[in-house]
Formats: sequence, C-alpha cells, structure tokens
Amino acid sequence: MGRALGEPLGDGPMSIPQTPTTRTYREWFEHARKCEECKCVTKANDGCEKGRELWGIYRLACVGTNAGGGK
Ligand SMILES: [Zn+2]
Repeated sequence: MGRALGEPLGDGPMSIPQTPTTRTYREWFEHARKCEECKCVTKANDGCEKGRELWGIYRLACVGTNAGGGK
C-alpha cells in the first residue's frame, strides 16, 4: 500500500514525451483503474462500452503513429 503515484506531468526524473499514443493510453488507463468492469478484465476489449471506446481511440493512435507499418 502507499499513496497513488503523483501526476507524472511536469518535471519528473524521466520525462516521457507526450504522444497521441501515450496520451490516449493514459486516458484508457485512468478509466480502467476506476471502472469496476474494466479493472476486472484481462483484455481491454472485454471492458465496458466506455472502456472499449477509449481503447479503440488508443489503437487508432497507434496506427496513426506507425502509419505505413503494415496492417
Ligand atoms: Zn469501463
């Protein structure tokens, strides 16, 4: 147990560049940790409607980042 991690935004020991991929993943993650349905599933696609929607946005961001990289 411990306190929740602080907001990583701002200056941290490791500055993670904010990309559409990390930002959208974080949005899903923030939802999933609070959502009774999503935090129990092993795959994001098994989560609630909102969780799947956020995951879909993240997947799209991944595709957009790797444009031209396969399917
Ligand atoms: Zn959910």
